[in-house]
This record gives sequence, C-alpha cells and structure tokens, in this order.
Amino acid sequence: MVCAAHVRAMRYSCRALTTYMHYQNALDFARQMDVQDPLRRFRGEFLFPTHNGRPVLYFCGNSLGLQPKAVRQRLLEELDQWATHAVEGHFRGQRPWMHYHKFLTPQTARLVGALPHEVVVMNTLTTNLHLMMVSFYRPTPQRYRILMEAGAFPSDQYAVESQVRWHGFDPEDAVLEVAPRPGEDVLHTADIERAIEEAGDSLALVLFGGVNYYSGQWYDLAAITAAAHRVGACAGFDLAHAAGNVPLRLHDWNVDFAVWCSYKYLNSGPGGPAGVFVHERYGNAPDLPRFAGWWGHNEEERFLMRKGFKPMRGAEGWQLSNAQVLSFAAHLASLDLFDAVGMEALRAKSVLLTGYLEYVLDGVREQLPELSIITPRNPNMRGCQLSVRMGAQGKALFEYLSTHGVMADWREPDVIRLAPVPLYNSFEDIWCLGELLRQWPAATAPTSA
Ligand SMILES: *Cc1c(COP(=O)(O)O)cnc(C)c1O
Repeated sequence: MVCAAHVRAMRYSCRALTTYMHYQNALDFARQMDVQDPLRRFRGEFLFPTHNGRPVLYFCGNSLGLQPKAVRQRLLEELDQWATHAVEGHFRGQRPWMHYHKFLTPQTARLVGALPHEVVVMNTLTTNLHLMMVSFYRPTPQRYRILMEAGAFPSDQYAVESQVRWHGFDPEDAVLEVAPRPGEDVLHTADIERAIEEAGDSLALVLFGGVNYYSGQWYDLAAITAAAHRVGACAGFDLAHAAGNVPLRLHDWNVDFAVWCSYKYLNSGPGGPAGVFVHERYGNAPDLPRFAGWWGHNEEERFLMRKGFKPMRGAEGWQLSNAQVLSFAAHLASLDLFDAVGMEALRAKSVLLTGYLEYVLDGVREQLPELSIITPRNPNMRGCQLSVRMGAQGKALFEYLSTHGVMADWREPDVIRLAPVPLYNSFEDIWCLGELLRQWPAATAPTSA
C-alpha cells in the first residue's frame, strides 16, 4: 500500500500529491515511508547534533542548514592548496582561486532555473540586495515607490528604507506594503496584483520574498513579475527561504533580479556566501549604473590594472571582490549534493514530508486545541516550512520540546516554525515530534499551566 502510494505520488503534480497520500499516525508507517524514500541515503551525508546520545529532531534547516560531511574535505583541500602553493594557489591546483566563483556557477544556475551567465555567487545576502537596488532602483520624482510584503524580514525592510532615504525620498510615502486581509495570515496573489496596479507608474520596484520567512507562504513569482512589468516597474526577489526549498525558474518567470543566502536550506555554514541572479536582458548593458569592483571587470584586462571599468558580461559584472574561497568551498560541497538530488526529486519528497507534518499536527489538535497552522494548506503555496501558532502556552510548549531534543524555531509572539528538510529529515522525525506533542504535560493536567 505504502509503496504504491509513494510511487504514484512521485509521478503526480504537487497539488495532487497529498490527495493520493493516505498518511497514518504510526511509527511503522513513518518507518515504512523512510524505507521507500528514494532520497533516504542523503540523511547520512549530514552531521546531526545529539541529545542524550541520539540525533536531535532538527527542524531548523530554514535557519541554519546542517553540516554536510563533505564540507570538511573541501575546506581541507583549500587549506592544503594554500599551504602548498601560497600565492600561486590563484593559478594552480584543482580549483585555482582566481576562477573559484565559476566552479559554483553551473549548479547554482540549475538550482534557481537560470542560464549560467545569469548567476554568480558573491558577498552576503543583504550586501547583494543593496548592490541590486543600486542598479534596479533608479527612482525619478514620478516613479520612486517600492512595494513589498508587510512583515518582510527586517534586513530587507532596513535595506529598502535606507535606499529610499539615500535617494531623498520618505519611506512613509515611498514604501508600500501588501498585508493579509483582516483575520488572515497569508496574502492573496490577486491582492498583490491589485496593489501593484494601483501604485501604477509611481512604482519603481516590486521587492518581494520568494517564501516568507514567518508564514512560510510561497509567493507566485511569475504573476508578481508580470504585474510589475505591466506598470513598468522592475521585479526583484529575496529568495533566502526559497533557494534549495522550492523549484525556481527565474529565467522563464522573467524576474529582473534575485538574491539569496546559502546558510539556510543550502547548508553552506554560518555566514556562508550569497547568490545573485540578473536576467540576461541586462547582462550586456555596460551602461546600467552599478557599484563596481575589480572582480566585475572584464577578466581579460583585469590584471592590466588600468583606469576605466568595463563590466564582465552577465551577473559576474556585479562582482566587487575576489572569491571568499573558504566559504565558497563549503558552499561547493553543499551545491554538489543538491545537484546529485535535483530539485524535482527534492520537491517531490518535500511535499510528502511536509504533508505528513501537517497531518500529524492536525492529529494533536485534541490535546492542543489552540494550535493552528498559519502556512497555506495548499502545497503549491508553501515550501517545506509550517508555521504553527501555539496560543497562550506556546513558549512553555516550545521549551518542553527543546528539553526533549527538538530543535525548532520560536518567533514572537506565539509561533513555532518547523521545517522538515527533505535532504535530511525523515518521516520518523515527524512521528517522534507528534508523540512529544501528544505527551505534552499540560495537556494531561490543564489546570497546572
Ligand atoms: C535570512 C534572511 C536575511 C539575512 O541576511 P544576511 O545578509 O544573510 O545576514 C535577509 N533577508 C531574508 C528574507 C532572510 O530570510
């Protein structure tokens, strides 16, 4: 039964997947799902913290991905390269540092659905957001507004606010936000489209998340981009919670630019390097204003050290500095894993795994009546994260889970974010979490809370 359902599930579209799945809240079932999981071997490629000698139940891959075992080896290779070749490491060895960013490009392009010359790995996320706005937020007295989702990640809010001010505008007037309807937690695409249309030709830029960090909602990037373009605005996206989580087709969706970090779903370690996408229609526009550095300069002439910046073709033309090789090496190890799996297979498992978490959470409502999932129920509108409103005893419940070996993420005032990551989480992890919730002490002694 499980086998047939599983195989069938792999073939159907995401929306159909959960309809075909008949979950059971039983350890046997969860283990059976793990046995049938075509990606099960990848769990062994990661290092889990332990709790009482057993791997923790890790649901924080949306915050900091686990360490791939291969990272250590990749780092050692570069330390050896440095020890052996010193400065000549730029030109010698298996991966000369001079070209290091290029070793990440093919995998990165496949990951986000881009052409290779549309992506580059560089800097960190917020830095890249600013660099992109330098090129794609060029306000005029008439067209100066930026539209974003209400409650965007704070760094994005600060970046936008400071850009607006730097150009001499008032954020109160220039930054527009789309908020959920009263009593709702997530956005309707139609409301986003209407807000864009209403802003009309006052709108310079639509800057949205790909997947919202708080609600877990996956926005319709193609629809938002089309709406932005209809009013003559650019569309840029922060994919911090989307890259490595959901399948992306940035080129086909006609997105103008995108940025993302690599330490969340992309498992590349704390402070890991970030990525940039610039659609190819801008790739050969040397006059497009940008902040320049030597690594963005035409590489044939880079070492002539002459005056006059001539950008590289494509996203590489936005680079400032030479590669941060050690952090790129960790990123490379992780990207190779994503490439070995492929986003399609990853997504197929992700839909099943998150569907199982949803099913298990729905099953503990009797013990925890205040619990409600704010992430969309439609798998096409979410990645792997479910954000769960816990009600008044939320913080106590979160602490109870922590002391029982669950690593999840608490967000004020009352939300726990749980991200079962298809690369390394198992169905059994989710069953265990459900068991812990069922045993929540306050549930058996409600007056003691
Ligand atoms: C994680 C995250 C950031 C963090 O920015 P850094 O520059 O990498 O520190 C910014 N924006 C969003 C949407 C995020 O999810």
